[in-house]
Parts: sequence; C-alpha cells; structure tokens
Amino acid sequence: MLKENLMKVQANIIKACEKSNRNPDEVTLIAVSKTKPLSDIEELVLCGTREFGENKVQELCDKYENISTPVNWHLIGHLQTNKVKYVVDKACLIHSVDSVNLAKTIEKEAAKKGVIANILIQVNIAKEDTKFGIDESTIYELLDEIKDYSHIKVKGLMTIAPFVENPEENRQYFRKMHQLLLDIKSKNIDNIDMCILSMGMTNDYEVAIEEGSTMVRVGTGIFGERNYNI
Ligand SMILES: *Cc1c(COP(=O)(O)O)cnc(C)c1O
Repeated sequence: MLKENLMKVQANIIKACEKSNRNPDEVTLIAVSKTKPLSDIEELVLCGTREFGENKVQELCDKYENISTPVNWHLIGHLQTNKVKYVVDKACLIHSVDSVNLAKTIEKEAAKKGVIANILIQVNIAKEDTKFGIDESTIYELLDEIKDYSHIKVKGLMTIAPFVENPEENRQYFRKMHQLLLDIKSKNIDNIDMCILSMGMTNDYEVAIEEGSTMVRVGTGIFGERNYNI
C-alpha cells in the first residue's frame, strides 16, 4: 500500500515536471510521517525514501533515536525557542524559522553543539491569521540579522499554502513565493543561499512544482489519513 502510494506520488511529480519543463532531479519529495509509526517509515526506507518530515520536536527526537537505519529528518512544524536545543543537531533542515528571536536561539544552540543549522524562512504568503510564518514585508529585516550568524545557513524559503478545494487557487501564492526567492537571490546577501523552495502538500504539490517548488512535503498522499485520536 505505502509503496503503491509512493510510486503514484513520484509519477505525479515527474508529470508535473514534464508539464513545466523541469528536471525531476530538482524536486525532493519529503514523506511527512507525523503521527505514523516507525514501521511505516522503515517500510518506505526499503522503497528508497530517505527524507522524512515531522512537525513536532518530541516526535522527531523519538523517531530519530529509535529508527534502525539513519535517515534525514526535516522539522516542518512550528518551533518554540525552548525546544531548539533538542532538535538543532538532529534535523537536517528546519523549515519553519519565522522570527529573529527563533533564529538567535538556533544560532546559540548550534554554536553550543558545534554544528551548523540549515534553515528555511517560513513565509505566510497568503497573510492568514491562523498560520505561522513571517510577513513578506519584514523578511529582509530577518535576513539582515541572520547574515552575520556563523552557525546558521539559510537555504531558502518555505510556505504552507491555504487549505483549498481547488489547488489552482494556490497557484498565485506559489508564484509569489518563487518571485520572492528570486528577488532575495538577486541581492546576493552573505550567508543567504536561496536554493530550496519548500512548498506543496498532498492537495497541491503538482501546482507547486509547476510554479518552481524544489521540495514537496507529502503526508496523506503517501501514508493515508492521519488519526490524531490514537
Ligand atoms: C502535515 C504537514 C504536511 C503534509 O500534509 P498532507 O496534506 O498530509 O500532505 C506538509 N507540511 C506541513 C508543514 C505539515 O504540517
């Protein structure tokens, strides 16, 4: 079941790349395994998946400690400053940095552990009240702060698009994100590398790829529905 789902998503990614004249090698699929057991993750590892996304620090750390084969863990959910110390040396990429305060804490904890934290800036591109992420208008202030940090590398941008019935409704936001990424790239800021654009989930990853996504985060499409009551 998981294998079939995975193959379907991979085929859809290739189709979306063909449609937009992109090379499928430019798009990384992250299997979002939140709430799912290690046995599911290990089954996917056998199918070749190495990139997994979790939205909670505790769950990421538990799975990190207990998995039989090492994989790459992406922290995709909101990160509280008091939890940075647990995850800074375990996540290969933190997708959800959205404030100077959080960046400062990551810099401090990464320095303590002697690691360099790879991060993305989360942008609330649709300006939804319910979503985390920095407003587009203040992103340069944040980058201006981070450019002097020696234990953080900014790798790009991330967004969670609105929940919509028709994924076409999100095309405008994905396009805006891509433009923002290009704008930032063109400024050649120290320490700020804009090679990753993390956008697109089960409902809208194909549209996101057509608009330039380089990392799609797919949960339900691979693992099936999540049950939060167990
Ligand atoms: C849960 C989650 C996803 C995956 O959502 P699906 O709709 O199940 O694909 C992607 N990104 C983030 C930040 C998430 O929290």
